[in-house]
Amino acid sequence: MPDNSALVLFSGGQDSATCLAWALDRFDYVETIGFDYRQRHRAELDARGQFCAGLTTRFPDWAAKLGEDRVLDLSVLGEISETALTRDVEIKTAPSGLPNTFVPGRNIIFLTFAAAVAYRRGLKRVVTGVCETDFSGYPDCRDDTIKALQVALNLGMESRFVLETPLMWIDKAQTWMLAQRLGGAPLVDLIRDCTVTCYQGHVETTHEWGRGCGECPACKLRERGFKEFSEALT
Ligand code: ZN
Repeated sequence: MPDNSALVLFSGGQDSATCLAWALDRFDYVETIGFDYRQRHRAELDARGQFCAGLTTRFPDWAAKLGEDRVLDLSVLGEISETALTRDVEIKTAPSGLPNTFVPGRNIIFLTFAAAVAYRRGLKRVVTGVCETDFSGYPDCRDDTIKALQVALNLGMESRFVLETPLMWIDKAQTWMLAQRLGGAPLVDLIRDCTVTCYQGHVETTHEWGRGCGECPACKLRERGFKEFSEALT
């Protein structure tokens, strides 16, 4: 396995798709991993295949670096979480002050499983699209959590993984801008058309910023970011 190799946590959403392009632009070999935790909807997981198919067709240089993809069954996470992402309940703020879309420990669990796969595959970097700039306050998206986890994983596996977080300090408009810089309009179009970030998994309606219900917090955030990005371009 080349030193310059990475494993990207790829969910099928805008952020992780941008991270995948970022990794393919800078590393020689890239594998992808996704997680099925009995999300309320499957639209994001379906979007993974659509995005990768488009990437292979439109970016042959990147496709040549793309290795194995795997989806791990983490249904146990759905069993232990009582949240709006894993149960059919209304999205609202919980007594903790966090939105009830927060799945406790989700990113810690994802990154731990990803590191275990990276260890076995000899991949040096693990790339995740977490961001604390315009996030929903999820504590496991914060830079401190990721840094602490990097230390814990490296101690626990006696290894030298680097957890890469290219989106940590940029907002949604800047994430679109990053895609523009990496792959120009073809990449922006691919991310807009193929990825799904909507909490409801609504893919029947297409907006200028992509598919989604247009009402949930994730759609609102995506809409605002794309608008700011489009205005900055013109
Ligand atoms: Zn939505």
